[in-house]
Amino acid sequence: MNNVFVYVELENGAVADVSLELLTKGRELADRLGVKLEAVAMGENIAGIEKELAKYGADTVWVADDKIFSPFRTLPHTSALCGLIEAEKPQIVLFGATPVGRDFAPRVSSALHSGLTADCTQLEIGDHKDAKTGKEYKDLLYQIRPAFGGNVMATIICPNYRPQMATVRPGVMEMPQRDMSRQGKVTVVDAGLSMDDRNVEILQVVHDDKKSVDITEAKVLVSGGRGVGSAEGYAPLRELAEVLGGEVSSSRIGVDSGWIEKDRQVGQTGKTVHPDLYVACGISGAIQHLAGMEGSEFVIAINKDETCPMMKLADLGIVGDLHVIVPKLTEAIKAYKAAQKVD
Ligand code: FAD
Repeated sequence: MNNVFVYVELENGAVADVSLELLTKGRELADRLGVKLEAVAMGENIAGIEKELAKYGADTVWVADDKIFSPFRTLPHTSALCGLIEAEKPQIVLFGATPVGRDFAPRVSSALHSGLTADCTQLEIGDHKDAKTGKEYKDLLYQIRPAFGGNVMATIICPNYRPQMATVRPGVMEMPQRDMSRQGKVTVVDAGLSMDDRNVEILQVVHDDKKSVDITEAKVLVSGGRGVGSAEGYAPLRELAEVLGGEVSSSRIGVDSGWIEKDRQVGQTGKTVHPDLYVACGISGAIQHLAGMEGSEFVIAINKDETCPMMKLADLGIVGDLHVIVPKLTEAIKAYKAAQKVD
């Protein structure tokens, strides 16, 4: 009882990376509390998924396998999960801050009259003493996230209602290692729903045919900011990214100015990235941008202003005009590769 639940999101029948990341964090929280980690998966024809989830740390896997759960529909999912939470009374429930999680988690929290903190970047267990009443609370979930435009990190608690619920953005928590020897208990959930309970009929699913880029997977990112100056200004960055085998990304300014697609934005309201190399071209290093890239292994800043925060964060700073430096860098790398005979 009072275990830790992780809602497992499925993408084309496979477990979403964010759910695996949440299992790692959930395992850590459950161990700290001395309770079990339980995963909840809902979908159609998902037999066998429990074996996979057990290897990623779940002690128990709840499986709701019915065509009403695929594709995702908010109300049947909410009804099934709320029923399970009311029966099992977990103390913590975690969701990915994905389009599905951002729709699903608030429904569940409002149905259960409990709190929810969106977009957490860290989760910890800690105690709390109410300054007014003097009442002491033990082992609360500290739900930590940027607040006030990213200028402070807020720790949010939910002392009086259960479960404590949070969403966490993809790429923020560590990816777990698979432990092939682990085995979990599987319990089939009968939500007691039929297709008549689906509320919404999905007539057609239309996939965006625009090639979407997952910058969170890139090992090298060449990122542009206001200093790039225009949509055309990203072309030299693209060439540099190409010779380095990477992708182009951007600060929010580039996206808001319509110079580059939203799925390439790095930062608090964009994506969290962890490349081996991040080349920041004409990006000042506002806190909201740093929040998305400070986990990069090696950072090169190209900027006219040697005092800007990005220069301070960078492992290597090149002071000057990016329009001059970036093409020179590309040519130099091409020449180096030709001399070394590398592709
Ligand atoms: P600027 O801060 O204007 O910096 C431009 C830099 O380019 C300067 O350092 C300048 O010296 C340099 N430069 C100019 N010309 C050249 C040149 N020719 N050669 C070399 N250097 C040059 N921002 C994000 O990026 N991602 C987010 O997810 C995000 N989320 C936000 C969420 C909230 C709630 C808020 C309030 C803001 C958010 N922002 C985000 C915006 C953020 O605060 C900054 O405004 C933004 O990151 C600044 O982008 P920038 O560095 O490209 O531009």
